[in-house]
Amino acid sequence: MKKKILIVDDRESIAKIIACYLAKDYDLVYYDNPVRAIAWMQEGNLPDLVISDIRMPEMRGDEFLRYLKGHELFRTIPVVMLSSEESTTERIRLLEEGADDYILKPFNPLELKVRIKKILH
Ligand SMILES: [Mg+2]
Repeated sequence: MKKKILIVDDRESIAKIIACYLAKDYDLVYYDNPVRAIAWMQEGNLPDLVISDIRMPEMRGDEFLRYLKGHELFRTIPVVMLSSEESTTERIRLLEEGADDYILKPFNPLELKVRIKKILH
């Protein structure tokens, strides 16, 4: 059975690019904001990994990360953050808060694919 990856990004185009590279190997679920993604997870859906953007209008990705890592059922799910800002401070903070990896936009989808494979192997 394919592992399930939840992609959360306010830009659907990003999810589509990621899907081009991951759809063959993984089951993908996409939400354009964390609030809806959380609702989906609260219905009993547990992804094997989460890819989340940081800058989103309704709820930021770092808040989403904090929610997941503070939740009994969700805290063990690996989270890969996507950011458009080159900031080591932010990167360190996210890693400290439990992000498993961090990728800078624009990213090479092949790099994302390899990093995900290493986390999920
Ligand atoms: Mg965004």
